[in-house]
Order: sequence, then C-alpha cells, then structure tokens
Amino acid sequence: MGLLDGVFKKNVSAEPQKPVAPQKTADIAKPVETKKEVKPMADKIKVGHVHMSGCTGCLVSLADNYEGLLTILDRYADLVYGLTLADVRHIPKMDVALVEGSVCIQDKCSVDEIKLTRENAAVVVAVGGCACYGNITRFSRGGQQNQPQMESYLPIGDLIKVDVYIPGCAPTPQLIRNVCVMAYLLLKGTKEQKDLATAYLKPLMALAARGTEACGCDLMYDVINQGLCMGCGSCAASCPVRAITMEYGKPNIDRELCIKCGACYAQCPRSFFNTDVISNYEAINEAIMAALQ
Ligand code: SF4
Ligand code: SF4
Repeated sequence: MGLLDGVFKKNVSAEPQKPVAPQKTADIAKPVETKKEVKPMADKIKVGHVHMSGCTGCLVSLADNYEGLLTILDRYADLVYGLTLADVRHIPKMDVALVEGSVCIQDKCSVDEIKLTRENAAVVVAVGGCACYGNITRFSRGGQQNQPQMESYLPIGDLIKVDVYIPGCAPTPQLIRNVCVMAYLLLKGTKEQKDLATAYLKPLMALAARGTEACGCDLMYDVINQGLCMGCGSCAASCPVRAITMEYGKPNIDRELCIKCGACYAQCPRSFFNTDVISNYEAINEAIMAALQ
C-alpha cells in the first residue's frame, strides 16, 4: 500500500452486498438518488501561469499531460491566471506561480510583472531553462527591429527570489505535473503528505538556491572535475541540442552548440543526489499516480 492510498483512492465498502428485493411499481417512479462525488481533498490551490520572455513551449509541455492536466484542474488546482488560456488581465493572488521565460530589463512592464508575481504568489516556480537560467535569451544582444533597445534578458532569479526550479528546454510534462501535485500536498496536505512533498521538492529548491547560471561546463566543473562522473550518459540523452557526446566513457561538450538550458546538470545522477527522494521514490510515485486516477 502506498503512503497516500487511503487519501486518494475511492472508498470501496468491504461489506457484502445484500440481495436486492424486486422493485415495486411505486419505487420505480421515484427519482433515483445520485451520490455526490466525494472530492479527495478539501480545497484547490490557486495556480497561475506567468508568461515572460518565453516561447510558450513550457506551457505546451504542461498541456502535454493531457487528461492528467484536466484531473489536476478538476480536483487540485484552479488556473487563476494565464494569458494564453484565461481572460484575466492582471496578476491575482495565487498559491503557485508557474513562471515561463526570462525578463527583458529594458521592458518596464516585464520587470513590474515579475515583481508583482513575487508579491502575489506564495510559491514561485521557474519553469524551463529560460526562467531558471536565461537559456537561449542569454545570447540576446538587441539591435533588432522594431525594438532594438531590448537587449538584456535575465533569468527570473536575478530579479526575485525563486522557490523551485523545473529545468529543461522544454521541461518534461511529468516533472511539471509532479511539482503541481506536490505543491498541492505541501499547501493542503496532512503532515505526512507535507513531509513527502518537502522531500520531493527539496532538490528542485536546492537547484533554485544554487544560482541562475547554467552551461554544459557545469558537468566539467561540478561532476567530472570532482571525480564524480560514472559515465552513465544521462547528460548526453537529456541535451535538447545534442551538444554532448560520450567519448571514452565521459561527456564531451560542444560549447558552440550549448544553449545554456541546464538540463544536463539537472539530469546528472551525480550532480545532486537526494536520498530523501530516492528512499521515498515508491511512495512519491504511488501518490502521484493515485492522485491522477
Ligand atoms: S550524467 Fe553525470 S555521471 Fe552521467 S555521464 Fe553525464 S556527467 Fe557523468
Ligand atoms: S550542454 Fe546541452 S543540456 Fe547542457 S546546458 Fe548546454 S544545451 Fe543544455
């Protein structure tokens, strides 16, 4: 039995069914009583999608959860803001802000928007390489029509405090989904659930605390140079632009190709090993699966 089976699974009575008496005519005429659906938890959390200088690929990745996203919206989260999906014009108060894209500091509206997001959200999540690390916008230099002055883009962590990182270009639908479910448990769950959610989110919070710079070179400095690389090849598999090849059992990074998304370091099993998540892996997995059934 998973840790959260009792919470998420529907109650099924263990009592044996009594034989049903044949229906009288009067009974047939009575309207059939329908049982109210019991929601697995009391309140939904308020979630917003804040679109800074991004490509909307992170939102598409969230949508790629298909029915899983509908289940989340049905049971656990209300989408209170998101210009692509909802007609709400100003950033409201919310529990979780999923922020996509970096911030152009020559655009006052964008700077004000990210600051307001921090003020209005209990938890700020940087979704995707651009929000976490700048990603492709690190290469922006301005000089293009019709706004040549828009030349400087920063990851959101350089302007506001960010609580959780979901790296990747684009991040996987599963990781975004997991963070949404875990954020729900963290904010609305029992103590046991909060502990589980904290264990799950801890490495992603540690990534946010680590900083706003990323490059394939992180593998050199923080893994290979430290004697930690075991040549598993996860970094090469996770690179969206195939900038990493495995040579003589170790990653070789083509820095001309690297778009500075941070996926390789985040995916490397030797970059930040979290025993809390590994030892709770089954319970976490079961909790998420049960939540989405
Ligand atoms: S993912 Fe990490 S441990 Fe595996 S090959 Fe790449 S740098 Fe080495
Ligand atoms: S090497 Fe690839 S995965 Fe790593 S930061 Fe560069 S583009 Fe991203």
